Amino acid sequence: MKGLVFVLALLSWGSSEPSIAVMPLDGLRASDLRDSFDEDRGKGKHEALDILAARGTPVRAVVSGTIQKFFLSKPGGKTIYLFDEQGKYCYYYAHLDAYRDGLREGQKVLAGEMIGYVGSTGNADPKVPHLHFAIFALTPLKQWWKGEAINPYPLLRRALSDPAVHSR
Ligand SMILES: [Zn+2]
Repeated sequence: MKGLVFVLALLSWGSSEPSIAVMPLDGLRASDLRDSFDEDRGKGKHEALDILAARGTPVRAVVSGTIQKFFLSKPGGKTIYLFDEQGKYCYYYAHLDAYRDGLREGQKVLAGEMIGYVGSTGNADPKVPHLHFAIFALTPLKQWWKGEAINPYPLLRRALSDPAVHSR
């Protein structure tokens, strides 16, 4: 019996997946999403989605959690690494035009809180502002720079059709 409980616990751990409580951008529709996760971007697969939006569009925390890290990276421009409350998944936002005023590392945010603005910083085409959005399954060490990429496309598609998901 103990063995069975252990196996069931393992199964439920293995079957859990990242959640999307609020869409990262307001007013998103299924037709705005294109699956570019597996696209070859020269230095390897894209492992993210690019969601086109006007510069300055508010970007929201998709889950409640912690602003683990944010910094200016050469390829990603202004980036944010949002950890969920368990520190199991990291939600990565890149090419932001600006951060929300007063954003700081270690700050707790609620799903739906505005954390920054869409832009084209880093290696994005200045004429094509977009949100580069990725999800990583963190390792037990919970390092923001390390994780296994998970395709956000099916998760966002499913979230869009879920009436419980808040989309403004
Ligand atoms: Zn991208």
